[in-house]
Amino acid sequence: MKLPKAIDELINSFEQLPGIGPKTAARLTFYLLHTPQSFLDRFGQEIVNLKKDTVECSLCHNIASNDPCPICRDSNRDWATICVVEQPMDLLSIEKTGRFNGLYHVLHGAINPLQSIGPEEINIESLMARVGKDKAIKEIILATNSGMEGEATAMYLRRELIKINKEREPKFRISRMGQGLPVGADLEYADEATLQQALEGRRDY
Ligand SMILES: [Zn+2]
Repeated sequence: MKLPKAIDELINSFEQLPGIGPKTAARLTFYLLHTPQSFLDRFGQEIVNLKKDTVECSLCHNIASNDPCPICRDSNRDWATICVVEQPMDLLSIEKTGRFNGLYHVLHGAINPLQSIGPEEINIESLMARVGKDKAIKEIILATNSGMEGEATAMYLRRELIKINKEREPKFRISRMGQGLPVGADLEYADEATLQQALEGRRDY
C-alpha cells in the first residue's frame, strides 16, 4: 500500500531524529493526524521559529533569545570562573543545582575521532581566545562528560590551556569536575545532588 505523500514525508522526517526508528516515526505521524488542526499549526510554527528566534551567545555559545545570553549579561555572576560543558543541556543541569555562579563555555560537542569530530569542529578555539584575552579568569572547570569522548576532550583542553597558562599572568586554575559522577554517565542525566557533589568535589587537573 502506498501512503499519501504528506504522511510518508513526515514519517521520513521523524526517522531523522535521534532515537526514533521507523515504527515510532509512523506512530507519531498517525497520532498527529488525530490532533486538532490548531495544535498542528502551533507545532509547525514552533519548529519554524526554533532556529529563527534563537541565537548562539557570541561569548559562551549558549543558546538564547539574545546575544549575549542572560548568564553572560548578569553582573551578579562570578566572571572569574568558567565552566566548560559539551551541550546547552549540560549547562541547564548545572544551573538547576543553583550551586554554580560562574560563567560557561559550551563546546557543542566532544572530540570523537570515530565520527571525525576534531578540536576544530567544536568551540575550542573561541575558549582559548577567551582565556588568553580575559585576564580576570581565575579558574576553568572542565565539565565534559566522563565517557571516552568527554575524557579525550578534557585532556585536549588541559594540554592547550596549560600552554596558554605558561604565557599568562596571573595564572588560572584548571580543574576537572567528576568526583561522584559514574564513569561514562552523561551530565544531563545526573541528578542535582550528584552534580552538586561533582562540582564541589572538583579537583586540580
Ligand atoms: Zn553567554
